[in-house]
Amino acid sequence: MRIETQCLHEGYHPGNGEPSALPIYQSTTYRYDSTEHIGKLFDLTAAGHMYSRISNPTVAAVEEKIAAMEGGVGALCTTSGQAATMISLMNILKEGDHFISTASIYGGTINLFAVTLKRFGIECTFVDQELPEEEIQKMFKPNTKAVFGETIANPALSVLDIEKWAAIAHNNNVPLIVDNTFPTPYLCRPFEFGADIVVHSTSKYMDGHAVQMGGVIVDSGNFDWKNGNFPEFTEPDESYHGIVYTESFEKAAYITKARVQMMRDMGAYPTANAAFLLNLGLETLPVRMDRHCSNALKVAKYFKKSEKVEFVNYPGLEGDKYHELANKYLPLGTCGVISLSIEGSRENAIKFMDSLKLASNEVHVADIRTCVLHPASSTHRQLTDEQLAAAGITPGLIRFSVGLENVEDIIEDIEQALATLNLDAKPYTV
Ligand SMILES: *Cc1c(COP(=O)(O)O)cnc(C)c1O
Repeated sequence: MRIETQCLHEGYHPGNGEPSALPIYQSTTYRYDSTEHIGKLFDLTAAGHMYSRISNPTVAAVEEKIAAMEGGVGALCTTSGQAATMISLMNILKEGDHFISTASIYGGTINLFAVTLKRFGIECTFVDQELPEEEIQKMFKPNTKAVFGETIANPALSVLDIEKWAAIAHNNNVPLIVDNTFPTPYLCRPFEFGADIVVHSTSKYMDGHAVQMGGVIVDSGNFDWKNGNFPEFTEPDESYHGIVYTESFEKAAYITKARVQMMRDMGAYPTANAAFLLNLGLETLPVRMDRHCSNALKVAKYFKKSEKVEFVNYPGLEGDKYHELANKYLPLGTCGVISLSIEGSRENAIKFMDSLKLASNEVHVADIRTCVLHPASSTHRQLTDEQLAAAGITPGLIRFSVGLENVEDIIEDIEQALATLNLDAKPYTV
């Protein structure tokens, strides 16, 4: 099946007379014929649902669909994108370990890596993703266990050179984990370029309608956990009567360990109802993404022509710094998100945003409705203008997430909001 067909038919296969739509199995609990069978479930020697903190039939159907869409051997849904990122790393790392992440990633992920994981004794080095391979190689240490990057960074909109980063990770015998939230598996499948693990915030385009938080981890099945660097995969797990993940689960060792060990202990598994809503979004993902991309390209071109706009970042735009990488990794389109800077001041950016009538101010992105956010007065509010510049965020930077409205309406809204700006009265200079 091609991906459009997978979105509708993978994961749930109704039999004669059964419901066409995915049923919601609203049950925490499962019933068995014998104590012996339950014992086998706890030893992981029999397959089956045990308790809805670890698996549930509705969630499992969605996991199977997403694994197929990404081309992986298995997936694990989580209650948020943050939980997916955290568990993807905690499944590999322990106190005293180190990992490398590209620097232009989602702000919430930076907090997790730089502050919270550090409190647990896990150290992260942030690296400029454009550095040449030899420079990046110098950041590796004997205890480096993983490399992390974002296919299209939120909000910088830089495109990750996945093949380059996979090669660097593999030369050092560690996996590459890629956050593929902005493109979704419809526009990019990082496993085809050598990534080992993919994570998503499904709260964005995959859900698509801004109704359900969620995340997912997908395992390519390609990484060699037996290379000597990852004893937790090759040595007995005492919490499961000495099971060895690489022996019992082979290619699915990583994703099985993430579920039965990490999810069992951390408890961030979504409900059946949450998975049902995510599935509704997935069914229409390809058509929505096509429209997000075509609308965003038109809006990006409009911004590019305006003299009131200092710069526009959109990898789909010819002449964009990341256009070539976008052509390679994202041939069908990049996503619906644009970042741009209004000429002059922070005040001009705010005035522009507050003058928009159709596009709404939201702390959300990748929504079905057009929405905008001003990082300098929200997510990065505590930074000075100098600190913002160091983070690649100009005082006037706006994250503009193009929705599925008629693009003429979106552009007319932008036009009237830009018209309110008087740029001759420049109150601010960098
Ligand atoms: C939103 C987002 C996350 C975090 O996901 P939540 O579902 O909000 O927890 C992670 N990565 C990227 C790229 C995001 O945009």
